[in-house]
Amino acid sequence: MKKPIGAKPGDLRRQNYQAILQLFRDKDQLAVRDIMEVVSLSKTAITNILTNLIEMGTIHSIGKGDSTTQGGKKPELYALNPNYRYSMTVFFSQHSCFCQIYNLNYNCIAELYQKSESGTEYTYPEALSVMVAQIQTLLAQTRLTEDQLCGIVFHCPGIVLSQEGIISRPILDPGWPSNLHVIEDLRRLLPFSVPFYLDNSSRYYGYYELLNHPIRRTQNIVTIFSSTTVGGSNIRMGHLNHGLTGLVGEYGHITTDYTFARRCKCGNYGCFETGVGTDYVIPRIQKELKLHTQSLLKQDISSLTMHDIFLAANAGDHFAQKQLDFLIQQFSILLYNLQIAYDPNEIIIQGEYAESEGYFQDNLRKTIQLLSLHNIQNEVKLTFSFSGRGSTPEFCLPYAMMGASLFCFDRYFSQLDFHL
Ligand SMILES: [Zn+2]
Repeated sequence: MKKPIGAKPGDLRRQNYQAILQLFRDKDQLAVRDIMEVVSLSKTAITNILTNLIEMGTIHSIGKGDSTTQGGKKPELYALNPNYRYSMTVFFSQHSCFCQIYNLNYNCIAELYQKSESGTEYTYPEALSVMVAQIQTLLAQTRLTEDQLCGIVFHCPGIVLSQEGIISRPILDPGWPSNLHVIEDLRRLLPFSVPFYLDNSSRYYGYYELLNHPIRRTQNIVTIFSSTTVGGSNIRMGHLNHGLTGLVGEYGHITTDYTFARRCKCGNYGCFETGVGTDYVIPRIQKELKLHTQSLLKQDISSLTMHDIFLAANAGDHFAQKQLDFLIQQFSILLYNLQIAYDPNEIIIQGEYAESEGYFQDNLRKTIQLLSLHNIQNEVKLTFSFSGRGSTPEFCLPYAMMGASLFCFDRYFSQLDFHL
């Protein structure tokens, strides 16, 4: 590690431990020589750190690797101990509660999902008791104790004040009142001392993109998650950006067309979400299909999905292409505005539109190349990530759960005491 000016020896040692631990979190296995290539420390110093990490239980030896030279000594290989600590992530809304426990390899080791009966959505206190019951049941099932958890991450739709642990506006749970003190209420019901975190699920969909892509921790990333509704995140240098009132990521409510007649769930007109959210797109296209005579999509109007529209456009269907042209226009206006607001390294599209290979993706890429301020060359990387077929956000939910789990481990390791 490069020595920062004014750093104390204890800080330096801590940084060396952090750097090596992060390497283990990014790689399946490492030998001392692999670590030496990245961290400028002597072999002895690295071996000492590994010995301490083994004593702590964070890593373990997994046997011998292949030698680099013929007849050379086979190196000892080490890996993160996946069962050193666990993270618990809990999604909740008026429709469902979903609780999972992950190990350090991001394998879900136990989960519980409970849906409210249709027509009788959970009230806020009911959702709290379902979550508490799920947490207690999973701990009993896995025989884990509280001190084996790095923390519990709660996430939900709506506008969240993450620092304060409050849902200020539960937009998608209209029966719930504003300003819900979620963390305070959960602390009363669960007498644990582990950290509790609360955020909007869209931010953890975004955070998921850091998993297996360490480079993104050093960049400025914008993610857009689109299904029935639209959310997103901005992650700068590995940190989630929330803004003063938790509005960062509410990209669904950026105005992309002042002519929309349909009012958005937020109460305004012209929101991106009313343009591209599947709750709006599918009924709009179904209505137009009934009037339109020629389209591959006419075969089964009542069960129309976004996937059908993407496939028809790829097959050259003019009606489907015209519909996608409108959606591409909405996306390109949003992306143009986001580029000016954030000037990011990468914009990642998740959810419904991520499986739009062909016509949609090709034409969106072309269109955003044409939009550039002061003729500055557009260098932003546009990536299409996971998709969840079927238009409910819950198809994609495991990605937010995993993102939340990564967030929890990150927080834990950044504060870990190494007893130096
Ligand atoms: Zn809106």
